[in-house]
Order: sequence, then C-alpha cells, then structure tokens
Amino acid sequence: MAFRDPVDGHEHLALVLGERRQDMLVRVHSECLTGDVFGALRCECGQQLDAAFDAIQREGSGIVVCLRGHEGRGIGLLAKLKTHALQDSAGLDTVDSATALGLPVDVRDFGPAARVLGYLGVRSVRLLTNNREKVRALRSHGIRVSARVPLPVGPNDHNVRYLTAKRDRLGHDLPQLRVQDAVAQRGQGAVGQPGHDGGQLAERALAGDERVERGVGEQLEG
Ligand SMILES: [Zn+2]
Repeated sequence: MAFRDPVDGHEHLALVLGERRQDMLVRVHSECLTGDVFGALRCECGQQLDAAFDAIQREGSGIVVCLRGHEGRGIGLLAKLKTHALQDSAGLDTVDSATALGLPVDVRDFGPAARVLGYLGVRSVRLLTNNREKVRALRSHGIRVSARVPLPVGPNDHNVRYLTAKRDRLGHDLPQLRVQDAVAQRGQGAVGQPGHDGGQLAERALAGDERVERGVGEQLEG
C-alpha cells in the first residue's frame, strides 16, 4: 500500500504480509537508494531490508514500512553522496563527514511511519531494528513497541567503519562487531586487553528494562 503523508508530503510504502494484528513484526525502513537498490556495501541498509523480509516471511506475517525522504538520515541523496566523498578523501566517519559539511547527523521524522501503522490499525509492534532511538521515536508518536528484534547483519571490509561509528557514536546495538574488535586487537598484538567500550555499552543497555527478542540470525541457527 502506498500513502502520501499529509505532513511531510512524501509518498511512503507499506508492504504487508498476512493478517494484521497487534504486536506483529514491523520494520520501519529508511530508504537508501544506494544500499537498498544497488546493494552498496558501505552501509548495511540493503542487508537489513533483506533480513527483515526473511524474518517476516518465516513468521508468516509482518509489515515493512519504507519511508521516503530518509536518505542519509534525512539529509537527502545529494548530501549523502557528498559525505561519502568526504569519508573517502578525508577518512571521516559517517557522523563527522556530515557535521564537516554543516549538515545534521539525523533529521529523520518517524511520524509518517506512526501514521501509516495507525491507518493499518496496528498500534503495538515488535520492531525489527538495532537502533534504540527508532524505538523511542516511534513511541513518541504513539506507537507501542512491545519488543525490539535485532537484525544482526554481518559486517564486511567496506562497512565495518560505518557500523563501528553507528555503534560507538549513535548508540546502535551491534554486538556482532565485537568479533571484529577481537580480530583487530589480535592483529595489533593486544590480545587480552579489555573489550571495546562500545561493546560494553551495548551489554549494559541490553540488561535494562528493554525487552529484546533473539536476533534474526540467532533464530536462524537455533
Ligand atoms: Zn544505506
């Protein structure tokens, strides 16, 4: 189903599988042309979208809300590609490359997703995301998030710096990166040193009151 949001004016898409009910699996996906359509390896958007489809297919029901106007966390495609160029030329990460260009780090509005879900009659969701901020954003727009279901997408050589910045600077829950840290530390002869702060942060957050379901990758293996 397609929607035109009355506030942001963008046309958004909802892909619905199965009967609609409360607490169904929902992925609120920020559009990423380079990752979703062309399979760019510098971010994990396309892999997350695939993992969300897989999880929903396995469960037999779920919704993917694809939000337009969310390119580059809301700065737009042109600006996003400028940050990519700066990342390649100056070695800046996803946060610093935006601020160096005078751009905001995240200006996404999740109100349209809440309005789409409201129209579909789904007021309580199990949200497929590694991003706790997205949980907070949806709740602020009146959607109950009864559980967060992580999407543990494996890092690669092209996106590991991007994912590390998302974990350490934007608070995403990416425990799979700890393996990469361990490998990097071994490579530097630093075996036995304490784990990365980002990993410890994630563990503390997971121990809080947030209900986290087992990740999709773990479900696959279990
Ligand atoms: Zn992307």
